[in-house]
Amino acid sequence: MMIIDLLIVMIGLTFGSFLNVIIWRLPRQESIITPGSHCLECGEDLKIRDLIPVFSFFLTRGKCRYCGKAISWQYPVVEVLTAFLLTILYHNYGLNISFIIYSILICILIVCSLIDLQYKIIPNKLTYPALIAALISSIFLNHISLMGSLTGILVPGGLFLLLALLYGKGLGMGDVKLVAVIGAVIGWQFTLIGIFLASLIGSITGLILMIAGIMDRKTRIPFAPFIGLGTIISLFYGEELFSILMSLY
Ligand SMILES: [Zn+2]
Repeated sequence: MMIIDLLIVMIGLTFGSFLNVIIWRLPRQESIITPGSHCLECGEDLKIRDLIPVFSFFLTRGKCRYCGKAISWQYPVVEVLTAFLLTILYHNYGLNISFIIYSILICILIVCSLIDLQYKIIPNKLTYPALIAALISSIFLNHISLMGSLTGILVPGGLFLLLALLYGKGLGMGDVKLVAVIGAVIGWQFTLIGIFLASLIGSITGLILMIAGIMDRKTRIPFAPFIGLGTIISLFYGEELFSILMSLY
């Protein structure tokens, strides 16, 4: 049991490290594969000892070993977050096909959240292939049926499309596509619970930021981090939340 936990933490840290590369390069239209990892300030190629997730960062106190410039906190945070979420996922689902599929979904959510926070976009380069992969996997794997996947795209995706068309600025087409991807993987019920949680947490956060004077009514809050958070809570506690909602109804 302990060895599997340790293994999943290590895989999570490694995945997180790769997600950092995607988060940096994808919006800049750079290749994900080449060149190898290098310092973003001095361009020095990073060696194996510079690439150990989290440890390298703290070993050099968050600075580049070659030029001494600070490395963003985003790097260890994304690595630890990925490892943390995959570990909880494993404890909820065990080692099976759902664990693998949901792990990939969580990675996509982390990347979209970080890119949306920094650039206020959700890249099509990520959502389109993810949508196709989600549909194809629903045919060949048994975590969801093809019909479940299709209604997962149409119901929450349609709802978001309607909201985006009605309210314009608050929601973008990127949000619509991201919600469609989530629906294709986890089905419409859990996605709607995720959206409900995302709106709730997003509204509270917006209110707090407005009261604190950090933003005004016109500031557009990136919604992907909230969709991500809502979806992850729904993945972990969706069934409990669903039965509570049904009993209330
Ligand atoms: Zn450097």
